[in-house]
Amino acid sequence: MIELTAIREMREWSRARRAGGGRVGLVPTMGFLHEGHFQLVDRARAEADAVVLSVFVNPTQFGPAEDFSRYPRDLARDRTGAAARGVSCLFVPPIEEMYPRPGVVTVQPGRLADHLCGPHRPGHFAGVLTVVAKLFHIVEPDVALFGRKDVQQALLIRRMAADLDFPVTVSIAPTTRTADGLALSSRNVYLSPEERRAAAALPRSLDAGHAAFARGERRAGTVLAAVRAALAAEPALEVEYIEAVDPDRLAPVDAVEGDTILALAARAGRTRLIDNIILGQGTAADARVAR
Ligand code: AMP
Repeated sequence: MIELTAIREMREWSRARRAGGGRVGLVPTMGFLHEGHFQLVDRARAEADAVVLSVFVNPTQFGPAEDFSRYPRDLARDRTGAAARGVSCLFVPPIEEMYPRPGVVTVQPGRLADHLCGPHRPGHFAGVLTVVAKLFHIVEPDVALFGRKDVQQALLIRRMAADLDFPVTVSIAPTTRTADGLALSSRNVYLSPEERRAAAALPRSLDAGHAAFARGERRAGTVLAAVRAALAAEPALEVEYIEAVDPDRLAPVDAVEGDTILALAARAGRTRLIDNIILGQGTAADARVAR
């Protein structure tokens, strides 16, 4: 595995792979890698000949009161894990390399950020889209992998690539969960044992919504009430939003369907957690790991 920090070197490396007839896959991350990231690497390896994994904690997607400075970092461990999982190139640009001057021109999410996390994290998706656009221009991947755990982000990136004609296939992988259903996240390391226990109510409550749908319920209000009731049983969680949205517009629906996205955000102490399911599938359709 090669490790690069300079944009010019990264672009040259990627172009050399492609000139040799290889397909390049990109897995953008903020590091502190876990099995959810590695499942994206596995998929990238299946879809490409060389896999680039970027580690960059992007300051522009964090709000002023968010956790940029304390976001978990462990590059030595990431290096070992990425190499063991078959990453060909680890791209770890310093902040000055990505932002030598404050950016003026940015990519804006438009109305796809009107619901779900958008209103709760002003500027977040513009930060995400702008850095991903930069990474797409730097790495020039044939395929890029994103996790459905961050469904609004993944669909926004797919839409950016389509609307702005990026020559890249945006592939979205299922959420990877622990045995009790909690979606893996670098931020789970913040959780106290009590908060970690309470957090398992998030996937449970989404599955309560799935169960209502499976029983034939089609009124969004009733499905959302089932989720809310399941979450209310866990007082250690403070709900930020619970929404049922359609997968194209990411706008709330009155009548749910199998492909409706059921998504929520909640706080366990200081830690903000998000999760979602495709309503007709529930968490059973997602990947599980033992830990
Ligand atoms: P992050 O490092 O948290 O910014 O995540 C980098 C990529 O990994 C994003 O595409 C995430 O959606 C994806 N990812 C993070 N956690 C999971 C998970 N539990 N399951 C699937 N994908 C994930």
